[in-house]
Amino acid sequence: MNHLTALERADHTGWAYGSRNRRTGAYALGYCAEQPHVHPTEDEARACYGQYQRDRVRLDSRTSNWCDCAECGEPTKTGARIEGDGYNLATLCEKHLTAELAIKHLHIDGPAGDSWQS
Ligand SMILES: [Zn+2]
Ligand SMILES: [Zn+2]
Repeated sequence: MNHLTALERADHTGWAYGSRNRRTGAYALGYCAEQPHVHPTEDEARACYGQYQRDRVRLDSRTSNWCDCAECGEPTKTGARIEGDGYNLATLCEKHLTAELAIKHLHIDGPAGDSWQS
């Protein structure tokens, strides 16, 4: 199990958002890994990864389900995903397939929380 969370450096000099695994250790994710840097606070590290996820929203998923938009619920074959993330998918019909609604239904409209990936 990988725990995605804000990681504090062992020497307490800053934070990065990343993945922690009890057996294989921890590594940074997103912008914290692409252009290595540390954040002075946990909140800033979570905001950094939230922005990284929003920058990678792609409206090109192919699925078969009902539109996630509450007032719609129409069957659809289109959806949104986060590039490089095989876990999150929002099903949205062509009418509701916008970056704004994708961000809302992918639950990435704020700082990144904790999640677990196997
Ligand atoms: Zn960062
Ligand atoms: Zn819809």
